[in-house]
Amino acid sequence: MTENEVKPKSFLDLIKEVHEKGICGECGGCVSFCSAADIGAIDISSSGLPYYSNEDNCLHCGICYLICPEIHELDAELNAKYNFKPPIGNWSKIATAHAIDPQIQKLATDGGVVTAILIAMLENNLIDAAIVSKKIGPFQRTPFFAKSKQDILDAIGTNYNVEGPVSELGKYNTFVPTITELKNVVSSDKFKIAVVGVPCQIHSIRKMQELKIIPAHVVEYTLGLFCYENFKFDEAARARIEERFNFSFNDIIKMNIKENVIINLKDREDPLIIEFSELQDIMRNACRVCENFTNYYADISFGGIASKQGFTTSLIRTPAGEKIYNLALNKGYISEPGDSNTSVEKSKMMAQIISFSKRKAKRAEEFQS
Ligand SMILES: Cc1cc2nc3c(=O)[nH]c(=O)nc-3n(C[C@H](O)[C@H](O)[C@H](O)COP(=O)(O)OP(=O)(O)OC[C@H]3O[C@@H](n4cnc5c(N)ncnc54)[C@H](O)[C@@H]3O)c2cc1C
Ligand code: SF4
Ligand code: SF4
Ligand code: SF4
Repeated sequence: MTENEVKPKSFLDLIKEVHEKGICGECGGCVSFCSAADIGAIDISSSGLPYYSNEDNCLHCGICYLICPEIHELDAELNAKYNFKPPIGNWSKIATAHAIDPQIQKLATDGGVVTAILIAMLENNLIDAAIVSKKIGPFQRTPFFAKSKQDILDAIGTNYNVEGPVSELGKYNTFVPTITELKNVVSSDKFKIAVVGVPCQIHSIRKMQELKIIPAHVVEYTLGLFCYENFKFDEAARARIEERFNFSFNDIIKMNIKENVIINLKDREDPLIIEFSELQDIMRNACRVCENFTNYYADISFGGIASKQGFTTSLIRTPAGEKIYNLALNKGYISEPGDSNTSVEKSKMMAQIISFSKRKAKRAEEFQS
């Protein structure tokens, strides 16, 4: 290599630009898709952070660096490909809707549109499976490869609704490293899957597709979730929150994130509403510098914000997104109430989403400066 030749970046650069700044989101992507995975170069430590397990085996190929959601080197390519326009990205339709199946309505985070669309895709042979995340305990989920309608139903909702005593856990994390599940997917041109994920996860998947990393090509549809932040905390922080807001985690019936954090508690009629700004001490560090609220590169983005309780807001972005949304709508999996989908109501929804996106981008700018 001559003196002027540019060397690809490597895991060493990730250490410098991400780990040392304390902004690794512990998504597991770098370790799962490391080119030297067969011989072992990097691994995940017990604390969740990736590290060099054998630096000599590193090929210095730069793949881990480029696919990391904290690195923005491929953003120009993605922005051009997905016609990105600030502050919320490209979109062709906004709607508020709910699943028609009452079972889905009952269990869903909001209107169950994500679950209904996944089932519609599976039952109409658009996908063979979906990467989702499944609840394994209070405030605990695991990546999950759903191959049947029942599998998709098993993954409905979020990890915020608490069943059972949370005090036994000791560690709480609302982020689930779902993209690591992609590593186990069969790499076949005939096999098609959908992935549900928060913005940093869909960002990584789009980068893998851009780099043609196998098996990212099997991801045919991306169902993005809006995301203002995720939380990671321990028992001490939990006790602080309980004292600050005068409630017990054991009394949580349901928790949802919309414009703020909404907690429904046993024996309390009105929900407890907590502003995001009041939970800064338990926000994951990676979220502090993240400016993507609406999941710019997804086929459709979904959130609870701007919709009434029991409804999901959908921001349809790409032709693939239009195809799956219309399939679910036309085949009776989801329904859009007319009075909430007038042009005036849609403008109000859009105003709220834009305002929230700007708020998140400003927060990221302030943390970075
Ligand atoms: C961590 C997180 C933060 C969010 N923040 C906001 C926000 O600030 N504002 C807002 O309006 N909306 C936010 N959302 C989106 C919102 O909570 C709903 O997921 C969305 O409205 C879809 O609702 P639904 O009833 O259609 O989904 P459902 O039909 O209930 O399906 C939810 C799907 O999400 C998957 N899922 C659940 N938890 C996770 C997770 N941690 N990571 C990846 N996938 C998961 C499930 O497997 C399921 O497939 C957030 C979601 C998550 C997971
Ligand atoms: S081999 Fe490539 S992907 Fe693996 S750690 Fe080294 S630079 Fe990263
Ligand atoms: S954010 Fe993900 S890809 Fe980036 S260093 Fe951390 S674990 Fe690796
Ligand atoms: S705020 Fe950003 S970094 Fe944090 S979980 Fe959401 S998308 Fe990922």
